[in-house]
Amino acid sequence: MAIYHYRCEDCGVVTCVWAKMSDPAPTHCPECNSTKLTKLMERTSFTLKGGGWFAQGYAGHDNCPSSGCCSGCAHNH
Ligand SMILES: [Zn+2]
Repeated sequence: MAIYHYRCEDCGVVTCVWAKMSDPAPTHCPECNSTKLTKLMERTSFTLKGGGWFAQGYAGHDNCPSSGCCSGCAHNH
């Protein structure tokens, strides 16, 4: 099992999903039902657009897998 993060391009919410490699990716944003989800890679240096609350939220997000995570973690951390 691994944790994957998907960011909604429409509302910016990041969804965390525990899944096996073979499991299908989520296709809809839980917040706005958009289908524009972008997979975020863990522990890589992808660049966050903007910053502020979102960048700070993500910075505190590294320990999510061991703490059970989270859906909508972008605003809960
Ligand atoms: Zn959304």
